[in-house]
Amino acid sequence: MDWKVPLAETSFSTAEFQAVRRVLNSGWVSMGPETASFEKEFATYLNVAHAVAVSSGTAALHLALLAFGIGPGDDVIVPSLTFVATANAVRYVGARPVFADISGHDDWNVSPESIAKKVTPMTKAVIVVHYAGFPCCMDELERLARRHDLTIIEDVAHAPGATFNGRALGTWGDAGCFSFFSNKNMTSAEGGMVVTNNPAAAGKIAVLRSHGMTSLTWDRHRGHNFSYDVIGTGYNYRMDELRASIGRAQLRKLAANNQKRRELTRFMREVFRSQGGMRVPFRDELIESSACHIFPILLDSSLLRESFMHYLKTAGIQTSIHYPPVHRFSSYANLSAEETEGLSLTEDVAAREVTLPLFPTMTSHQTEMVCDVVKEFFARGDLSCLKYSTKKIVNIPAGL
Ligand SMILES: *Cc1c(COP(=O)(O)O)cnc(C)c1O
Repeated sequence: MDWKVPLAETSFSTAEFQAVRRVLNSGWVSMGPETASFEKEFATYLNVAHAVAVSSGTAALHLALLAFGIGPGDDVIVPSLTFVATANAVRYVGARPVFADISGHDDWNVSPESIAKKVTPMTKAVIVVHYAGFPCCMDELERLARRHDLTIIEDVAHAPGATFNGRALGTWGDAGCFSFFSNKNMTSAEGGMVVTNNPAAAGKIAVLRSHGMTSLTWDRHRGHNFSYDVIGTGYNYRMDELRASIGRAQLRKLAANNQKRRELTRFMREVFRSQGGMRVPFRDELIESSACHIFPILLDSSLLRESFMHYLKTAGIQTSIHYPPVHRFSSYANLSAEETEGLSLTEDVAAREVTLPLFPTMTSHQTEMVCDVVKEFFARGDLSCLKYSTKKIVNIPAGL
């Protein structure tokens, strides 16, 4: 489908092309000096002691859980309103994901009260997700974690460059897990990063990402080591030099791109402020500290969603749903009541949510088009019939 306004868009300039060329010319394409520089620059950007590059955000979550000793018999509290990888990573280590609800209709981050209700002696960790790039209330979560001796892992896939009380997200918890998948705020095509201030955890993660080996091919190439030991059942979760070089170029653009996302977010929020039929979550005051990864809206009724998304699609505007709740997937169908109770806000929001396009290269023409088509949908005045026929298609005005 050739969208007039896609949901998201990658943007590469000569910087990325030159970076890839530089790596190919060097002749060294697996983990090496580019990866080391990417890690150093990412750690400096966030003001954190250690950053370990890996092959994906999911690999980052998996290794962070292992590094903090989460395993069989342990419970890990996670939001259900997230990408499925957050919960899957818990299952990778043999632990059990227990789902917590969101805070409210205007705050879709995981609720500290809901987490507190789900804590048992089995609970060892909590993974928080900064939904859409908006910061979770990290000081409250820190107090909760200290009270129950829980490890906090931040899933920062939506929020590179976002802050809470001036401190970078990903550096509040015991570990922060970033994704550089192609639709994220910065991309290396595929890739991820674990950041932590815990040197032992960083060391474990670095070893586990490469087969549990104590020395790297790069070190042996440089003549630093002749042999190696294997100190655990590791994985091949390495990042390669091509991806690291793209990641470095994207990191340099992150602050400016996030600023552009904030401007577009403010513009669209203003347009929709008095719009009936829908609302926009999160408080205005949080935008400055958010990475504004996506632009979610909440329709008044779940019955409107199909026709709303279809109306925008017909106008060439791509939309999405973030997210179908994880506890509703077939793969999570056999959960106990204790694992899924108290998720009514998540279920309500997940049924009415729609994500509108948002990306730094979005033109003012594209932005206005999204706003106009959304306003038009609600202005037709015949929405009551949708209660009976959600399939009703309305003519799109000429010129769209
Ligand atoms: C994208 C994403 C992930 C997974 O990242 P990958 O790099 O695709 O493995 C995990 N959690 C959230 C919230 C995400 O949006």
